[in-house]
Amino acid sequence: MKIDLRTIYRFQPMEYSGGLPTGGDVYYECECGDIVSSVSFVKAACKCGNVTGAQGAVTIQSPEKVKPLRGKLR
Ligand SMILES: [Zn+2]
Repeated sequence: MKIDLRTIYRFQPMEYSGGLPTGGDVYYECECGDIVSSVSFVKAACKCGNVTGAQGAVTIQSPEKVKPLRGKLR
């Protein structure tokens, strides 16, 4: 089942330098439009397959296609 995280969280772009930040309130928006938690414990993947997560870790094939966002519960 697919959940649109935008219905649960309000996302704001994050300032960052160097590697992508990770954290409980950090999410990655892929260029395909999907959002995946940076510390996903459930299996998650964006629809283009660039971002895949499970067991608290996320793998990104092309980091330049990903924007980190901070998510706050609505
Ligand atoms: Zn994608």
